[in-house]
Amino acid sequence: MGRYLVTGGAGYVGSHLVLALLDAGHDVTVYDNLRQGHRGAVPGAARLVEADIGNARRLDVVLSDGPWDAVFHFAALSLVGESMKMPFLYFMENAAGGIRLIEACVHHGVTKFILSSTAALFGNPERIPIAENERVDPGSPYGESKLMIERTLHWAGKIHGLRYACLRYFNAAGADPAGRAGEDHTPETHLIPLVIDAALGRRPEIFVFGHDYPTPDGTCVRDYIHVTDLADAHLRALARLDAQSVTYNLGNGAGHSVLEVIRSVERVSGRKVPVRMGARREGDPAVLVAASDLLRSETGWLPKYAELDEIVRTAWAWREAHPGGYGD
Ligand code: UDP
Repeated sequence: MGRYLVTGGAGYVGSHLVLALLDAGHDVTVYDNLRQGHRGAVPGAARLVEADIGNARRLDVVLSDGPWDAVFHFAALSLVGESMKMPFLYFMENAAGGIRLIEACVHHGVTKFILSSTAALFGNPERIPIAENERVDPGSPYGESKLMIERTLHWAGKIHGLRYACLRYFNAAGADPAGRAGEDHTPETHLIPLVIDAALGRRPEIFVFGHDYPTPDGTCVRDYIHVTDLADAHLRALARLDAQSVTYNLGNGAGHSVLEVIRSVERVSGRKVPVRMGARREGDPAVLVAASDLLRSETGWLPKYAELDEIVRTAWAWREAHPGGYGD
C-alpha cells in the first residue's frame, strides 16, 4: 500500500484517479481548494485537505506529514479560451503555483511527481497523430503554463533527482463506469456534457465553434479519451518511475469531429440535438490526435473504453443520474 497526495483530487480527472488509487488499496489525501472541485467528488475513504496550492504554510504542513510515495498534481485552471483573455492568471496560478509545489516536494523529500499536462502544448502540430517528439509550441497561455511546469520538473530531475511523469492528455471525457464520479464544471465549457445537456433539453442547442476548418466535415477534430483509462495510465506511469522519468502523450489515437460527437450523443440518447453552426473559438487548433505508442509499449496500457459511443454512454449515464452535478 502506498501513500499518495493528489492536488486537484476533487476535480474531474483527479477524482477518477483517486478512485483508481483507492480501488488498488492505497491511502489517499486530496489537496483541493474546492473552487472547481467538489466535496462530493472525494470518496469517504480519502482524506480531504481544503486548501490552495498557493498556501505555502498549509502545503508545508501537509508535505511534512510524510513520507509520500508520490504526489499527483492536477490542481489547475484549464480553459484555453479563458487563458487567452487572462494570461497572467494562468501564469500565476498554474505555472507559479506548480513551481512552488515542486520546490516544496523536493524540500520535503518527495521523490516521485506525476503531472497532469496537456495536448495544448502542441499549438498547431505539423504531424498528426502527435508523438512525444513533436515540436512543442503552446497555442495558449494555458498550454504555456503547463510547459513551464514540465520544464521545472526537467530541472528538478536533473538537479535534485526528482522522478517525474508528464502526462499530456488530450480530451478527457466520460465518467466512472460504476457511476461513482463524473464531470461537473461551472460553467460547463466542454463539448460532450454540453451536447448531452442539449439532448436533455437543459440548453436550447449546441453551438459549433467553426465549420470551416481543414477537416473532413469542417469542424474541429479531437482525441476523446475515457477518464478511467486516463486514471489507469497514471498508475502505469507511476510504476515506470522506478526506472526513469517519462513523458507520454495520452489519447485514444482516434480523432472525432464535433459533428461526430453530436451524432454519438444522438445515438446513445435516442434524442435529437439542436445544432447551431457558429464562428471559431480563439485558440482552437483544427486537429489534435495523440500517438500514444510510447505509453502503450512501455507500460502495456490499452484503453478499455476506446469507442466514442462507450465514452458518451458513461457520460450520459452520470449526467442523467446527477442533473445537478455534485449538488454544491
Ligand atoms: N466545442 C464546440 N462547442 C462548444 C464547446 C466545444 O464546438 O460549445 C468544440 C471546440 O471548439 C473543440 C471541441 O469542441 O473543437 C472540444 O472542445 P472542449 O472545450 O470540450 O475541449 P478542448 O479541445 O478545448 O480541450
